Amino acid sequence: MKGKVYLVGAGPGSRDLLTLRALEVIRTAQVVLYDQLAGEIIAMLPEAAEKIDCGKFGGKHTLEQQEIEALMVSRARAGKSVVRLKGGDPFLFGRGGEELEVLQEHGIPVELVPGVTSAIAVPGCAGIPVTHRRYASQVTFITGHEDPTKEGSAIAWEMLARSDGTIVILMGVKNLPAIVSLLVTHGRDPATPVAVIERGLQKDQRVTTGRLADISGKAAMAGVRPPAVIIVGDVVQLYNGGHLCRDGADRERPAG
Ligand code: SAH
Repeated sequence: MKGKVYLVGAGPGSRDLLTLRALEVIRTAQVVLYDQLAGEIIAMLPEAAEKIDCGKFGGKHTLEQQEIEALMVSRARAGKSVVRLKGGDPFLFGRGGEELEVLQEHGIPVELVPGVTSAIAVPGCAGIPVTHRRYASQVTFITGHEDPTKEGSAIAWEMLARSDGTIVILMGVKNLPAIVSLLVTHGRDPATPVAVIERGLQKDQRVTTGRLADISGKAAMAGVRPPAVIIVGDVVQLYNGGHLCRDGADRERPAG
């Protein structure tokens, strides 16, 4: 029997936001390779499954990407039902695209289970819609992982700075000062509001707000750490300190 690999989005880490299909394939998985961003979902993995922690948390890699890929290939070749569980949606900055290529090169059947991406759900649950007719008609998702000052950066900073759309930055904590200064030098208004949401939808979520002009200092003062989603743009004005989604802390409170 030929095995199969399910590239599964776990959502932003709260079990409420797992899809029905994800739950189905997780329950019948024989092997699960998971990232730490899968959060609460990790506790829901079947007891009998072989569970492999792939790490990847703020630059701390437990397994190298090649090892992860080799494991998926070998387990699937052995006829196993393999779940590759990734935070958010597997195809937004999660190297899911690379994993798909490797699996296809080896002729391994793949099913994608899309997930709720942190890039939209984390700001959303904090009360920040990434688009809004009055504030932003476009949104750009960028990775803050690359050194933004390096020659030939793959990101169109000038264009981003000139547009007034929302910019959602993932993996951007370390490079926040460089990103902010690039946007401002290229002409984005220093008064543009910014929110940094750490550990979105977790019990200990924290939101730090400011403007392009002062957010780097504020984030440093607050000791902001990954994982965090950074939102730049006028939609951040809608943040009022509330939260709109049920999270781990809400579930622990008695109903009513
Ligand atoms: N595929 C994922 C993103 C992978 S990149 C998705 O669709 O959500 C990893 C980055 O996602 C982190 O560095 C952080 O910027 C963001 N992230 C994922 N889950 C998060 C969470 N619960 N809270 C804050 N940021 C999160």
